[in-house]
Amino acid sequence: MAEHEWMKDIRALVGKEYGRVLAWDEVNAPMIRQWCEVMGVDNAAYTDAAAGVTAPATMLQVWCLEGLKTNNYPPGSTTENPYEALKLLEAQGYPSVVAVNSDLEFERALRPGEKLYYTTRLDTIGQEKTTALGTGFFVTLAMDYFSQGDARRPGGPDEKVGSQLFRVFKFRPAHPVKPAAADAAAPAVTQVKRPPPGMSDDTRFFWDGTRAGKLLIQRCTACATLRHPPGPVCPSCHSFDWDTLQASGRGTVHSFVVMHYPEVPPFDHPNPIGLIELEEGTRLVAQLVGVAPGDVAIGQPVQVEFNTFETGDGDMVLPQFRPTARAVAAA
Ligand code: ZN
Repeated sequence: MAEHEWMKDIRALVGKEYGRVLAWDEVNAPMIRQWCEVMGVDNAAYTDAAAGVTAPATMLQVWCLEGLKTNNYPPGSTTENPYEALKLLEAQGYPSVVAVNSDLEFERALRPGEKLYYTTRLDTIGQEKTTALGTGFFVTLAMDYFSQGDARRPGGPDEKVGSQLFRVFKFRPAHPVKPAAADAAAPAVTQVKRPPPGMSDDTRFFWDGTRAGKLLIQRCTACATLRHPPGPVCPSCHSFDWDTLQASGRGTVHSFVVMHYPEVPPFDHPNPIGLIELEEGTRLVAQLVGVAPGDVAIGQPVQVEFNTFETGDGDMVLPQFRPTARAVAAA
């Protein structure tokens, strides 16, 4: 595909270096301790003051974060926008963004008292590409992190301590998520279809079951262990022989998430998704229906129901779970 004329100015930014973004706080033991607590990291190297604390390497980005207020960086930080290429793409009709991947490299451990900053370089902008999400550009930013020399030894040189590659896809969505309500003349948004589940010889029985209104659990015929998701071998006795058990469809919410962003069609958002523990003992992931996202609760009794959806390749029947009357009465 021929390059857009306007890309010339945006590509001219590749290689551009943006100024320093300073850290609010020096590397410090309280933040390290709290980070470890939140992350569930238990390692004396990070918390044993007597031995001399070091910061977990993966905290690198933490030290220079802006905090809860957007773009609230310490005085002396650059006022340039390292994301200007993304803003320019947005102006050309590529409004959506999704993070693709991030690679971190660490030069050495950090110790309390060090004061960091980072600089950003616009590393690459790929050729225009069309993906399942839409059409746009992969943009890679490279951040280099430095420890200020003065914080370690007056007049000492700044030292590079790590780097981070951050790649995003800046795109025009293939399927607009919502029509502009004010624009009555806008054409109706095409109904986006569900992506069909990946199906193999190991999983086909499950989807045949839902089509027949049955929730089937794979069962080892050698040792009777139930398993889900389906697989060719019994994890308990390694037998390849199996049949199925029809589940009652009753279960409880073992855990759940509520998806808010990104709003990906064809789903409604917020989108509650449960990890359902069936009364037979296996668990499966399924969408929760008939419950406000804020009302989902762990332990809530639910009952399966089978709903038909259009995919790009015929209909499919999905098991979904609805709180039972018992739960409503208890609430
Ligand atoms: Zn078995």
